[in-house]
Amino acid sequence: MKETLYTIPLTDAFNANDECPFCNIERKLEQDALDFILGSSSAYMQSDIREQTNKLGFCRQHYKDMFQYGNSLGNAIMLKSYYEELNKNLQKKLSGSSPIKTSLIGKIRKSKSSSDSESNTSISNWIANRTKDCFVCKKQEDTFKRYMENFFYLIESDNEFYDIMKHSKGFCLPHFAMIMDMASKRLSGRKQEDFYNDITNIMSENMNRVQEDLNWFVDKFDYRNHNADWKNSRDAVQRAMQKIAGGYPADTYYKAK
Ligand SMILES: [Zn+2]
Ligand SMILES: [Zn+2]
Repeated sequence: MKETLYTIPLTDAFNANDECPFCNIERKLEQDALDFILGSSSAYMQSDIREQTNKLGFCRQHYKDMFQYGNSLGNAIMLKSYYEELNKNLQKKLSGSSPIKTSLIGKIRKSKSSSDSESNTSISNWIANRTKDCFVCKKQEDTFKRYMENFFYLIESDNEFYDIMKHSKGFCLPHFAMIMDMASKRLSGRKQEDFYNDITNIMSENMNRVQEDLNWFVDKFDYRNHNADWKNSRDAVQRAMQKIAGGYPADTYYKAK
C-alpha cells in the first residue's frame, strides 16, 4: 500500500471498524485542533494564530468544546484579543444604528420605518457574518478535504485498501452523501460503476444491521427477554444516532492532557 501523510490515519480509521471511518477522522481532527490552540504548543500565544482566531472567531459548539477542554487562561487570552476587536467594531455599528439617529436621518431622507429596518438589517447581517465562521471548524474542514481526496486516490489505486473499505461497516449518512457526490466527479467508467455497486451494498447491509440492533435493544426491555443475551445491541442507540447524523453522541468532552 502506497503511503502518504494521510494513508495511515485513513487506514487506521477504517480498521477502527466503527459506524463511520470519516466520523473517526473528523473526531481526531477536532481533537488535534483543540490541542493545537489550547494544548501544550500554546498556539494562542502566537500573534499569527491570534490574527486568524480574531478574524474567524469560533462557533457555539466549539466554544463549548474549548471551555470543556480545560485551559481557562488559554481561552481567556485568546478571547480577550478576539473580544476586543469584535467589541470595537460592534460599538461603531451600534452608534451608527441608534433608533434616534436613524429616525432623524430617516426624516430627511425617507420614511422612518424603512430607514430603521435598513439599519437593523445591516447590523443583523454584520452579526450573522461575524458568527458564521469558526477557526476550529475551518482547520478541521481544510484537513478533512485532503483525507477525502486521499480516500479516492486509494480507491482508484490500491486494491488492498479497496478491500478494507468493502468489508467496513459503511458510513454515516452525511459522510455517505459526501462520498457519493465526490465519486461522481472523481471516478469514471467501470471504476465508478463498481464503486457505486459496492458502496450501495455496504450501506444497505449496514443500515439493516443497525436497524436489527435497535429492534433488539427495544425487545430486550420486554420482561420475557430479561435473561436473553444483548447480542450487539448494548450500544445500539448511539450507533444508530451516529449512522443517521454523524458524530459520537456517547463521547465525553475531550480534555487537555
Ligand atoms: Zn460519518
Ligand atoms: Zn466550529
